[in-house]
Amino acid sequence: MRHRPKRGRRILRCPNCGSPDIVPIAGMIIGQVYHCPKCDYQGSLVFETEVNDDGSPREEPVE
Ligand SMILES: [Zn+2]
Repeated sequence: MRHRPKRGRRILRCPNCGSPDIVPIAGMIIGQVYHCPKCDYQGSLVFETEVNDDGSPREEPVE
């Protein structure tokens, strides 16, 4: 069996302050809403970032 290339896991980040501590709020009618305790951002728009296994951010190449 072939070993799959190591892939980072995905984390959600606040689009306002970039904090990875953003938490989902359940039970909203309009869909999934997230809340950032750091800057008090609340909304459905969040950034999704890939990180390495050790948790360090993985910069994606920008064209
Ligand atoms: Zn924030």
